[in-house]
Amino acid sequence: MADLVRLELVDPFEAEHEDPKQIAKRLSKAGLIDHFNFKNSIFSLARRASGDCQFLDAKTRRCTVYDKRPNTCRLHPQVGPRPNHCPYGNRAQSR
Ligand code: SF4
Repeated sequence: MADLVRLELVDPFEAEHEDPKQIAKRLSKAGLIDHFNFKNSIFSLARRASGDCQFLDAKTRRCTVYDKRPNTCRLHPQVGPRPNHCPYGNRAQSR
């Protein structure tokens, strides 16, 4: 949930007071997430039809929310010293 707040998809007040199921419903309806695992509070961001992350710039292949990117992106082993580059996007690009 902290990731969703940092991405500004959920505001801090909502995160604290709203039922997570309602939040997931709203985000899912808005096409922002694909799945939300309530038990572990793990969510999957929605992807574009191309399979790209919705925050990946299709032209530059850079993350458009780099400073606010989720922890899973921060911890990805392919994250290198190149700021603004998406580890997943780089991989997709090299295919
Ligand atoms: S680092 Fe990549 S997967 Fe993560 S939010 Fe940015 S574009 Fe999406």
